[in-house]
Amino acid sequence: MADQLNLTQLLTCNVCGDILSEPITLSCGNTICSHCFPVNSPSNKKSVFVCPISQCTSASHLFGPELLVDASISEIANILREYLASCPCPLSPVEEYENGYLDALSRAVVPYLRCSGCHLTTVDPITSHCGHTFCRLCILQTKVDSDNCNVCYRPLPKYSHLSAQSSNKLIAQMIKSLQFAGALPFTTTETALLDANNNEQRNVPLFVSNNVILPGQKFKLPVFNAAHLNMFRSSLIPSSRYSGLCLASVHRNKPQVAQFGTILKIVGVEHRPDAIMIDVVGTDRFKLDSHREENESTLFADFELLPEASITQFGIEFPCSSAGDVAMIQEHAYGYSVELADTILHFIHHLGQAPNMPNGTLHAQTQGILGPLWFENMKTIHGAIPSKSDPAAVCWWAAVVLPTAPNDLYGLLRTVPLVDRLELVITWMQAMQNQWERCRSTAINAINRVANQYQ
Ligand SMILES: [Zn+2]
Ligand SMILES: [Zn+2]
Ligand SMILES: [Zn+2]
Ligand SMILES: [Zn+2]
Repeated sequence: MADQLNLTQLLTCNVCGDILSEPITLSCGNTICSHCFPVNSPSNKKSVFVCPISQCTSASHLFGPELLVDASISEIANILREYLASCPCPLSPVEEYENGYLDALSRAVVPYLRCSGCHLTTVDPITSHCGHTFCRLCILQTKVDSDNCNVCYRPLPKYSHLSAQSSNKLIAQMIKSLQFAGALPFTTTETALLDANNNEQRNVPLFVSNNVILPGQKFKLPVFNAAHLNMFRSSLIPSSRYSGLCLASVHRNKPQVAQFGTILKIVGVEHRPDAIMIDVVGTDRFKLDSHREENESTLFADFELLPEASITQFGIEFPCSSAGDVAMIQEHAYGYSVELADTILHFIHHLGQAPNMPNGTLHAQTQGILGPLWFENMKTIHGAIPSKSDPAAVCWWAAVVLPTAPNDLYGLLRTVPLVDRLELVITWMQAMQNQWERCRSTAINAINRVANQYQ
C-alpha cells in the first residue's frame, strides 16, 4: 500500500513545491494553493487567466479570482499534515505499513472522496468554483434540478461548462491509488440505463414531447408547469453511453405511443422564473419493443437503439455473397447514397440563392424562393451544412431546415434504411417544387387573363 498511495507526492503543489495550503481547483482540473494563484496575471480581473501549471493544455480557464477553497482536498491536506506531524518520522515505507499508519491515513481520507450529490465514491469528479466536488453526472443532475450547489447553495456554473469541464485530477488520482491499494472498491463508470454495451435497453422512462426531434437536431424544450416538470424529472436518464443526461423522447403517447423516438442529450439548462428551458440535441433513434404505464404519469419502455453505424446500412440483403461481394455492394450503395445527398444539397442551395429575376417579376422558378437570409438563419440555428460524404447527416439536416409537416418528419424517423430516407427527402423536395410551380402558373395565368380583358 505504501508506495501506491504516495499522498505526500500527490498533495504537493506544482507551483510552490509545498503541501497544498488553502487549495483551489482550477477549471483545467489542476489544484494549486490559493497563494500560488497568478495575482499579477494581466487578465486577472477577468475570469480568464494564464494557468500557473506549465504542463496545462487547457485553452481557457474560468472563475479565476472567484474560486473558493476545494473543500475535499483542503480536508485531505490537513489530514496529511497531521499524519506527518504525528508519525515518528523518518519511518521506512515498510515500517509505516507495519505500524498501521498508512491504513489509518487512507481510512481517514476515504470519506472526503465522496460525491456531494450521491455520497458514494466520486466517479469522474468535477469541482465547482464553490469548491464542492460531485460526480459529473451528479453535478449535471443538480444543475437541472435546482441551479444551485446542494452544499453551499451558491449558483453553479453553466451546464455546458460543467459538462465540458476537466475532471479534478488530484481527486481522480487519489481514488485510483486507493483502489489499487485495496482501500476502495473499484467503481464502474457504466450507468444502468443507456450504457455503451447494449443496444437493447430495458425499463427506460420515456419523455413525451410535443415535437418530433430528429438525430442531430438542436431543440429548445420549455418545461413550464409542475406536472410537466415532474414528468421531465422522472424521465431524466444519467447515461454513460452519451456521457451526460438524456431523455428518451417520443412525440406522442395518445391514442398510441409512437413506436420510434430519439435519444436527446441535454446540452444546456436555463432556469427562468416561469420555466426551465432545456437545450437538447438529438442523438440516436430507438424503436420500441413494449411499454407500460406506471404511477399514472410515467411511461416505461423496452427499446432497441438504432445508431446509424449499427443499421444494416443500406437496407439491402446480401444472400450467400462472399465477403468481397458484400464489400463491393456496400461501396456501391454508399456511392449511391452520396449521390442522393448531393441532389438534396443542390436543392437546398438552389432555394437559398439570391433570386436572379428582378423584383416584382412573376416567374415559375423555385430558385431563391426561401432566399439567402433563410439560408443563413438555418445555418445559425441548425449548424453548418453537413458534407455529402456523410449522407445520414445530410438527410437529418435537410429534414429539419425544409418546411416539413410533423407527420412527414415522423415518417422519416421510422424509415430505417438510409437510402430510403434520402429518397423520401427527395420526394418532399419534388412535391414542394411541383406545388410552387403550380401556384406560380395559376397566378401568372390569372394576371394574363385580367390584362387581356383590358386590351
Ligand atoms: Zn503552492
Ligand atoms: Zn490550467
Ligand atoms: Zn455522485
Ligand atoms: Zn458548493
